[in-house]
Amino acid sequence: MALRNIVIEGDPVLGKIAKEVKDVNDHVREIIDDMTETMRHAQGIGLAAPQIGVLRRLVVIELGDQLYELVNPRIVEQDGDQFEEEACLSVPGMAGRVHRPAWVKVEALDRNGQPVTYEGTELLARAFCHELDHLDGILYDSKAEEMRSTEDDEYEDLEDEAEEAAAEEKAE
Ligand code: ZN
Repeated sequence: MALRNIVIEGDPVLGKIAKEVKDVNDHVREIIDDMTETMRHAQGIGLAAPQIGVLRRLVVIELGDQLYELVNPRIVEQDGDQFEEEACLSVPGMAGRVHRPAWVKVEALDRNGQPVTYEGTELLARAFCHELDHLDGILYDSKAEEMRSTEDDEYEDLEDEAEEAAAEEKAE
């Protein structure tokens, strides 16, 4: 396994349509393993192959202790609506709210080329939609509303902490 560089918004590879995987072989499994390692290292919950510059229809998602390894995934059914905040390892320091289905059903192949079906709601449904969009060259910020900087949040948090510390000092 090896860490790969995560491509950042502005790189044309993120706007391209990824190609279907014809043969789920050792080379593909190596890419999947690299994607998982890279996602974990970046503390993300999902990564699509174009984000490491590989134009193949591969996605990894990890939520809780469940790792989803998806080859040629497609959303075959969906229902409802949710409007929650998303962020992306390729769009660092930002977040924005996106309309997504409340429930999706995904069909894919696993790392051995066997068909798998997953259903997801809430965060898992958002992750499926977000990562599958990457395979079609779509970044979430093109669909998002209320885009905001998350770096400001951290700054405010630090400011709050500094104020709290100052207040405590006065109190003592
Ligand atoms: Zn993303």
